[in-house]
Parts: sequence; structure tokens; C-alpha cells
Amino acid sequence: MANIGYIQVVRHCNHFCGFCSNPSTPYVHTFDTMRALVDDFVARDYFGVILTGGEPTLHPELPRITEYAREQGLHVRLITNGTRLAEPEFARRLASAGLQLAHVSVYSVRPEVEAKLRGIEGTLERAFHAIDAAHLAGIEVNINCVINRLNADHLDENIRHFISHHPHVKHFVWNNLDPSMGRAEVNQDEFLHRLRDFEVSLQRALLLLFESGRTFRVEKVPLCYMTEFAWASTETRKIVKGEERIVHFLDAKQTIRQTRFEHVYSPACDHCSLRTICGGLFDRGDGYDPAELAPVFVSRDAIVKRILFDKTDPSARFESFDAWRRDFDERCRESEQGAGVVDGPQQGGPPVGFVNEDSLRRYAGRRQAEARRAEQSGVSLEPDARPPDASET
Ligand code: SF4
Repeated sequence: MANIGYIQVVRHCNHFCGFCSNPSTPYVHTFDTMRALVDDFVARDYFGVILTGGEPTLHPELPRITEYAREQGLHVRLITNGTRLAEPEFARRLASAGLQLAHVSVYSVRPEVEAKLRGIEGTLERAFHAIDAAHLAGIEVNINCVINRLNADHLDENIRHFISHHPHVKHFVWNNLDPSMGRAEVNQDEFLHRLRDFEVSLQRALLLLFESGRTFRVEKVPLCYMTEFAWASTETRKIVKGEERIVHFLDAKQTIRQTRFEHVYSPACDHCSLRTICGGLFDRGDGYDPAELAPVFVSRDAIVKRILFDKTDPSARFESFDAWRRDFDERCRESEQGAGVVDGPQQGGPPVGFVNEDSLRRYAGRRQAEARRAEQSGVSLEPDARPPDASET
């Protein structure tokens, strides 16, 4: 198995996306607090770590924690908006620290749409520079994209652009908008789409990638909206392989360990052939409509075999399909009984960052600046993220 964990390195950002699900908090990390989390992943025999945020390149110790994680044997990845990675010197610094993979996030190759989604102008060119600067520095580059109301109809246009202008990018990741947290929750009217809004353009995008020999993953999209490429669903792959995920949130949630990847289903799902390997509808924010789910009648086992025997992903631990089926049936039984399932906040592990007077003061300053940005861009600001016992500063 190839479990990969997440560390939120910072929570502030130099962009102001109206659908950000992890906006500013007063929690901060030092190198030592991040090192404890890396050590925890190593002790759990994790394969890799994804350094994320906020915008992780804003933490001055990012190269150092990258180097440390790599020295401990982890595969080290970064999710970034690319603003700093566009500087060749910074890209080379991260490469020599051991960064192996950068997920550069681009939502739309239409500059006016990207500017509206980012809350500021001029970010798209920087992201394109970052893609090439990282590649030149020897870092593998993937493109991350959050599916939302403003880009849902042209996901394939994005792919055509990358294939022709950045042909070295071989892997793409989509995340359907999570309407349950941060600014995404309070700006659903502006940024949340219906599932059918992206159905055609996602299918076209996946076909383009598949036919050009590229690879991809799609997260938080029900399998009935990507049936032909169901094997590329992140949730389905984790369900099939029995993987888990730990996210160290730099906020009051702290550490969440996820061993189940099933979300909301509709009565129609009871009739669907993919029900047991489908993550359903990720809808903790009550934004999507379960009535948009429609059962499909395709071979579940063909999808499972494609995942188990995928030569580009040797992380599955099963020697044969029968061995998988025995293990899967047992996992399903345990899951029904609630045994062997650990979901939610983890007690007893290292703390995720801390809050002190200085971080509270900085947070108060950021809230004021972000309130002005929110007003300018016509979006709502998320609720205050100070811990309940933190005093006003
Ligand atoms: S109908 Fe339900 S179980 Fe079937 S693919 Fe859609 S969400 Fe998944």
C-alpha cells in the first residue's frame, strides 16, 4: 500500500480564492512541529507526504522540512499555486532539497476566469512559469484543478492547452469542489455547480488525456459521472486497495485519519453495480443534489482488476483477484460492524502547530486585509478560526 499523508504547512495565502476550503487560521508551524509530523508518518510506514496549505511556499522552512522528509525516506510532494515556484532559483532550491513532485493548481486557462477564481489578476502566467521552472529544475509536475461553477464547462479546454504548451506534464488531478469548509461553504451560490454541469467537459478531458497516454485521478466525483474512467477515482482506488489517509490540519480539527471513503448515497445507489467501490457524493456541505445520482450497470470486477493490476501504480498488495475479494469481503463485514474503522480526530499524536500571542496578532491583521479583499471581489469571508479560548488581540 502507498499511504500518503498531508501536512498543512501554513494556512495563509497570496491568492484569495472565493471557494478556498482551508483559509487562514491563527495556527502556525515551526520546523520542529512539522518534523514531529514527518516522524509520525515514518513511524506509520507511510510512502509519502504532501506539503500543502494555504500556500506552503510562504513558510520560510519549506526547503528544510522538504529535505528532512526526504532524508527519512518519504516521497515528498508539494501543492502550490505556483507564484513562488515560478522563480527559477526557488524551484532549484526545492529540487536540491529533495522535492520530487509539484502539483501546480490551475483552475482555468481562460485568464479572466482564473482571475475571478483566484481573487487577483495575473496569477495564470505565473502558474505557467512555475510549471516550466519546476520541470527545468528536475521536479515532476502535475496539474491540480478544483471543479467549480466557473470552469465546469471547459475542463477539456484546459487539457488541450497543457498538451500543446506544456507537453512534459503527464499527470492531472481533479477535485470536485468541497462545499463543506472555509470560504467554499459561505460562497456556494457563487461557486458551486450541479454535477451535470461538468459531466461532458470532464469526459472530454479524460478522453484527451487517455488517448495521449497521460494519467489522471479524479476526487469527490461520483462514479456515475465518470463511469468509463471509474478506475481513476481516488476514492475508489483507496476503497479497493484498503488505503488510509491522514491530514494534519493546521486548525482546530488537528489530525484526521480517514479509513473510509464513502460519503452520501441516494436510494438509487442501492441498484447500482458500483455501489461497493463508489465513494458516492461528497456533500458534507449539503450543496449538491443526491437526485443527480443515477445507477450504472457495468462490471465492478473489471474496474477492480484494472486498479489491482495497474502497472503504473504498483502499490496494490494483492497477489490475485480472489485474494483481493476475500480481503474486501472481510473489510466490508468489519465496516458494517464498525470494527477496524478509525475515522476522525486522532488523540495522542503530536500536536499540529500551535497558537500564541504573535500568531493571533498576525491572524487579526490578515483578517482585516482579507475582509477588504472579500469586499472588493464580492465574496463572503469565512467564520473566524480562532480557538474558542483565544482572547481578542
Ligand atoms: S448511483 Fe450511487 S453508487 Fe452508483 S455510481 Fe452513482 S453515486 Fe456511485
